[in-house]
Amino acid sequence: MGLAVKTPKRISLDVHAALHAICSTGKGRCWHCDRRLPRAEKAIGTGWDVQRIEGERVASIILVCPRCQAKRAKPRLAAHALAAGI
Ligand SMILES: [Zn+2]
Repeated sequence: MGLAVKTPKRISLDVHAALHAICSTGKGRCWHCDRRLPRAEKAIGTGWDVQRIEGERVASIILVCPRCQAKRAKPRLAAHALAAGI
């Protein structure tokens, strides 16, 4: 849980609200793999995350599916292997 340090509890409430809001638009997709966002309750239950990216002028909200979160939490060995042509 070392990564949780930068995620205060207040943010997780915002995530739930944001997931509900995005689900209501029917346009939610994972930023990384383009996977479609399920219903809000299922998204929350399976660990979808909403992250904030600071842009040049405005902050964007992106969705990250549980699969991509798990991928990004691990060392990027696969990416390095690909870059090395292995
Ligand atoms: Zn994804």
